Amino acid sequence: MLHKVDFNRQDKLLTRENLDAYDPESESWQQQFSRRYTHHSELNGILNRVENVNETVYGKFAVSITPYMAKLMDRDDPNCPIRLQYLPSHHEETKPGFATLLDELGEEGDTIPGTSVVHRYPRRVLFLVSNTCATLCRFCTRKRMVSQADGSVHKDQIERSIDYIAGNRDIEDVLLSGGDPLTFSDQRLDDILGELRRRAPHVRFLRIGSRMVVQLPTRVTPELCAVLEKHRVQMVNIHINHPKEITPLLRRRVKMIQNAGVMMGLQTVCLKGVNDNVDVMRELFMRSIEMGVRPYYVYSTDMVAGAHHFIVPHHRMLELYEGLRGWISGPAVPTFIVDGLGGLGKLPITPTYVREVELPDGSGTTVKCRNYKGMEVEMPGLGRELRVAGQGS
Ligand SMILES: *Cc1c(COP(=O)(O)O)cnc(C)c1O
Ligand code: SF4
Repeated sequence: MLHKVDFNRQDKLLTRENLDAYDPESESWQQQFSRRYTHHSELNGILNRVENVNETVYGKFAVSITPYMAKLMDRDDPNCPIRLQYLPSHHEETKPGFATLLDELGEEGDTIPGTSVVHRYPRRVLFLVSNTCATLCRFCTRKRMVSQADGSVHKDQIERSIDYIAGNRDIEDVLLSGGDPLTFSDQRLDDILGELRRRAPHVRFLRIGSRMVVQLPTRVTPELCAVLEKHRVQMVNIHINHPKEITPLLRRRVKMIQNAGVMMGLQTVCLKGVNDNVDVMRELFMRSIEMGVRPYYVYSTDMVAGAHHFIVPHHRMLELYEGLRGWISGPAVPTFIVDGLGGLGKLPITPTYVREVELPDGSGTTVKCRNYKGMEVEMPGLGRELRVAGQGS
């Protein structure tokens, strides 16, 4: 049995007038989801200067945009940070060296056979429960499975995954992701979380990664929050890349999740043209802590096929970090991460503020420090003494 979202189809909002008049809170999230745009030509009545991309783009990665997300897009500017994230572009066409990298994080190598559990790190697992997202990001790291017709997570695969977690008493942290776990009905989510809690009492920390909260905020209902609370989901991480994505509606729905006793974190992908700018990042992370959501990780764009035009070079990521640390509230500063090729995993990157250097006479080391403003000081007391050659026994 496939778990695909399939609801009674509603009319698409193909004119500006219809979209402007549309209130995302006027109907259920399932109804809005069924109005999603799935071809760039459907946006011509709403946005100006939509790029007429080659159909081959669709063969690699589908298009899906919720009306709520379309409303956030700038009508005229093709470089609007929301448009860049979701509208297909000719840049997605093959670039040599990138075309075949579909599983560049090497997740498949760490997937337990027969399950959708990626067990890479000690004591915690990534549990990929869904292959669907409300809106498809052009830089998606899991293109190999998200929106692929043959890549659905089957019910028995989910059961075998729960069997694995239940039988592995070392696992103390389970991260549900996908796709988006919140594409499931409340009932289905209730079943999966209930099974996990019942059969794997050794799991101490249960978290969910979701972008749907951001792309279709009406997905957050009192019923969903009751399910999260009932199964003691401790953390929900949402994925936001630009301050424009933080709207009054999103804030209200985030509050509902928080009221269910769930800690919330923010994950961001560092994207050229979208947020590779210190002012944009400062605003994003301050808005995030304003609503009580703690910035957790900023990821480098993965080298997945069709996403190379979003990649921000490593040195630039370090500069962005330097523009945050010390300049805005500490809790608003996330950890910057490069996800290593071929299964190396998450690697934190940090500029060097404190470094140990050898003294010119070889007798030991001293420690040179620099603060966020570039002021420098030396702390010899933190250095070490080196034994001089020929001395001692
Ligand atoms: C990101 C990830 C986790 C969770 O990592 P944390 O640093 O604990 O948030 C676990 N497993 C896999 C495979 C992951 O990619
Ligand atoms: S929300 Fe995540 S999994 Fe879904 S399309 Fe975007 S990057 Fe991919």
